[in-house]
Amino acid sequence: MAQNKLLEVMNLKKYFEIRGGLLKRVTGYVKAVDDVSFSVYQGETLGIVGESGCGKSTTGRTILRLLEPTGGQVCFDGVDLAKLSREAMRRKRKDIQMVFQDPYASLNPRRTVADIIGEALPAHGVSDKQEITRQVNETLELCGLTVEQGRRYPHEFSGGQRQRVGIARALILQPKLIIADEPVSALDVSIQAQIINLLQDLQAKLGLTYLFISHDLSVVRHISKRVGVMYLGRMMELGSAEQLYANPRHPYTQALLSAIPLADPLAKRERIILEGDVPSPANPPQGCVFAPRCPKAMDVCKAVRPQMTSFTNDYQVACHLYSK
Ligand code: SF4
Repeated sequence: MAQNKLLEVMNLKKYFEIRGGLLKRVTGYVKAVDDVSFSVYQGETLGIVGESGCGKSTTGRTILRLLEPTGGQVCFDGVDLAKLSREAMRRKRKDIQMVFQDPYASLNPRRTVADIIGEALPAHGVSDKQEITRQVNETLELCGLTVEQGRRYPHEFSGGQRQRVGIARALILQPKLIIADEPVSALDVSIQAQIINLLQDLQAKLGLTYLFISHDLSVVRHISKRVGVMYLGRMMELGSAEQLYANPRHPYTQALLSAIPLADPLAKRERIILEGDVPSPANPPQGCVFAPRCPKAMDVCKAVRPQMTSFTNDYQVACHLYSK
């Protein structure tokens, strides 16, 4: 059955200017996101995984235009977000909400949780107080919080409860897509599982679509139907979670996965230790960005940047080992 693409990201770029000298002229660019393409289908969870600094969070923020893209297209529900005016984009954000790693940083300590959750409703056409209260209470309960908890302040909540508030705040506008950026990274493992279960329950109940960004391969595997692996601002491998975890093709994905423990205590997997550091995104290698650390690098890798190659309709790898 054909699936609907809710989000289509095409050749997305986000470069940050580097300025130097007395006149603060532009002397270069940090290529945080460089030519990244992927789609997210209606009702699925696409996980984006990679080490810190790989550009995954910048990708999420650029999709929402919290950061303006340097190039590329972001089509959401058939609309190119990059072409929308600021006002039209503000209205569109009703449909795309973000859940952050540390909701506490963005929760106003002087407002009750119910006020925080309902804050966005008047700007989107709901101004009746009773209706705001009804929607807030319904959303609190949906997220496993009580109406009474809604009368409390953020400092009275644990980390897991605060993340529930963050999710409730994202849900109140009934979005179609949620971009969750490291939503459980700051939580204890047992609480992480509760929040992941909550996100999965909400997806089943409300038909939500998630773009789930995390550095944690195990968490991403648990929640995602498909997974994209990023390195130094570029997408390295993208496909079904089942295939990617069972049979990773890209040398970088192979190295990442070799570091996570196997469920079977008798099974053995050789750990691939990567040499060297991640190069600077201000001066990425000319060919394959992974070449300086890749145990399988060939001459061509240093000169020519590999493009995403499709294995099947929906499985792609950017590596010369698989170039046709
Ligand atoms: Fe390694 Fe070359 Fe593939 Fe890059 S293109 S991952 S350097 S084999």
